[in-house]
This record gives sequence, C-alpha cells and structure tokens, in this order.
Amino acid sequence: MNILIKNGSVIDPANKIDGKLDILVSDGKITKLGKPGSLSSDGSQVVDAADKLIVPGLIDMHVHLREPGFEYKETIATGTAAAKAGGFTSVCCMPNTNPVNDNRSITEFILSQAREGSARVYPIGAITKGSKGEELAEMGELHQAGCVAVSDDGRPLMNAALMRRAMEYSKIFDTLIISHCEDSTLSDKGVMNEGAISTELGLRGIPCSAEDVMTARDISLAEFTGCRLHLAHVSTVGSVNLIREAKKRGVKVTAETCPHYFTLTDEAVRGYDPMAKMNPPLRTADDVAAIKQGLKDGTIDVIATDHAPHGMDEKSGEFDNVPFGIVGLETALGLTLKLVQEGVLSMTEAIRKLSMNPASILKLNKGSLTIGADADITIIDPDGDWTVDALQFKSRSRNTPFDGWKLKGRAVQTIVGGKI
Ligand SMILES: [Zn+2]
Repeated sequence: MNILIKNGSVIDPANKIDGKLDILVSDGKITKLGKPGSLSSDGSQVVDAADKLIVPGLIDMHVHLREPGFEYKETIATGTAAAKAGGFTSVCCMPNTNPVNDNRSITEFILSQAREGSARVYPIGAITKGSKGEELAEMGELHQAGCVAVSDDGRPLMNAALMRRAMEYSKIFDTLIISHCEDSTLSDKGVMNEGAISTELGLRGIPCSAEDVMTARDISLAEFTGCRLHLAHVSTVGSVNLIREAKKRGVKVTAETCPHYFTLTDEAVRGYDPMAKMNPPLRTADDVAAIKQGLKDGTIDVIATDHAPHGMDEKSGEFDNVPFGIVGLETALGLTLKLVQEGVLSMTEAIRKLSMNPASILKLNKGSLTIGADADITIIDPDGDWTVDALQFKSRSRNTPFDGWKLKGRAVQTIVGGKI
C-alpha cells in the first residue's frame, strides 16, 4: 500500500532536513521526498500533516516489556501498543524478565512475540547469567540470536573484574555494553535521594556517589579496554561531569537520561508518593540543571524512558516497600517537548536524541527518513495541548507521576514499516 504524507514540516537530523516536504511511502519503504504538491497521490492513502512535524520514528533504547514472566505488569503486545501511542516505532527491551534474557531461546521467544507487536522490538541480552553478576552470559550466542546490546540493567554489575572481562569480550562482536551505574554498597536499601528531604521525611537515602563512583569505574574500564560503553539513566551532576571529561579524552562512551530526571526533583517525594520512587532516585535542582546542560552540550546523547511498568497493587502502599520505577512511553515525547519550549533543546536536537542518536549507538539502520529506509515515521502535533490521563494508557500499567499533567505536543500518528 502507498501512503502520501502531505503538507507537513519534515525534521530529519540525519539528512539535515528541516522544511516543508511531502513523503511517499510504498511497500513499507520511504520512496520519494518532494516539494509540497509535487508528488502524485494516485492510489495512495493520503495523510494530511498540515501544521504537523514529520520525523523519523522515535526509538526508545531502554524499556522493560516484562514478558516473559511478569505479564500482569506488561506484555510485548501492550508495551509495543504503548510505544506506538507515544510515537515510538522501535523499542529495546531490557533482559530482567523471568527467566532473564541470557540465552538464545529467550531472545527468540521475545522476537517471536514481537512479530505481532505494534512497534519493532530489539532485545538486549544480559551481561551475566541470570543478571546475577557471577558468571558471564554467552555474549556471542545472544548477539547471533538478535540482541543489540548487553546489560544487567536493574542491577549493577558490582564485580569490576567481571565487568572488565565482559568489556574485553564485547569487542569481539562490537557489542554495546549498557551499564546500570550504581554501587549497591552505597545505595544500600535506600529508597530516595540522600539529602535534606530524605532527612526531613525520615527515608533512607541513596547518595549521588552511589551513581558517580560506578560511572567513574565503568568509564575507566572502557578507557582501558577500548569497548563501547553506554550509561543508562544518568541522574547526577557528577556523572554528567565524568562523561563530559571522558568524551573529551576520546573514550567511547555514550549516555542517556530519562524525562523524569530533567523534569522532577526529590521534592516530588514529599507526601510519600510511591509514583516518585525510581532508581536512580529523583535528585536535586542542581542535578536537574546539570542534566539539562548535558543534554544541551551533547554530553548526554539520548533520551530514553526506562519504562518500568508495575501493577497498581504493588505500586501503592508504603514508600519503603513499593518497587522502583514508572512507565514512560506515553509521556516521554510531551515531556521532551517541554525542553524545546523552555529553549533547552532545539526541535532538531530533541528529535536527534529520540531517533538518530539511539539508532547510531545501537548500529540500527533506523532513525532517518532516507529514501529506501523503512517507513518508520512519527507525525507530531507540536502545539496540541493535552492532559495526561493514565487511565487512557495503552500500557497495562498506570504507574506515572505525571497523571493529570498538562503538556503541549504529542504524537498523532505512528507509522511502522509503512503501516498506520
Ligand atoms: Zn531500566
């Protein structure tokens, strides 16, 4: 089937396009770009994108789809439906399922479930067997089965010698190592950021140093081994500074942050709201300022969600006892566009961090509107006001601190492989 997307403003950072163009899609591929009105529509389904932005399909390189093992929180079907609703055409799913994605059969199961999904799914394999941090998983097997990176996300890999070996091994397949930077001896049963507010609330704190020392360790190991390292969910001033310095020295390190780390501070924990509990925890205004500066100057390459669905029964109750994490697929774009409205990022920079950069870090042939590329396209209404309503989420879970927030801008159409 052919689709003609007309009258929209195209932003395609990879091809340095920022202007009005029509796009023709045939058989799932982008086949023509042309001046408005220049492409013939015969036989095509016409999508009128007047006053809309047309961008490469968004890519979220950090989600938890929960299947297999935790289907009451999310399934690959509901998670990819949430992705599509949020404007994401591709998502990468972390391996902390049950069983953990540490071998070919689990990777193949995820890929087979994903075939029926609403968005593309790229699995991430575990670094260690069962993500237990004791023994390396078969990185070659995971790579061959279709994993695009390895990570023990959800848990830090505390054994530095094992991380070194994983990094050395990763070079054989040029596998990306994604690190969850947390020293668990420092975070030690903490439930929120350590500081004035944790003291006031009487909650056990997680110091910034729990993240910073691990960021420093992994950058040091990556510099030593020469592997490609990607740091997940960066939340602190210290991490941003370490990454900036490492990049200047030429270390092959990239980094992501999540919308909650540039939108909220630990003030959100007042009232003991379980929806403000995530790991790493919400930090201070100084950290938020550093994250925004890191996004602006390119220290932080990617905006990812760390979409972490949990059932409402488990995510309600005492702050100490509820699990860490929030869903993010359906609010990420709106929260990122706030950065554009505040002047922190240009629209092009925002789109780059949501599509082109994750694609290039993961070496996916995605993230552009190049002729011949898969027709993964997101159409955004940049001006549309809307209110977040968790009850309307396509995700199976509703755990978000942004319920009821008024946002400007959202995805109005997400096209995956030429399918609307
Ligand atoms: Zn995660």
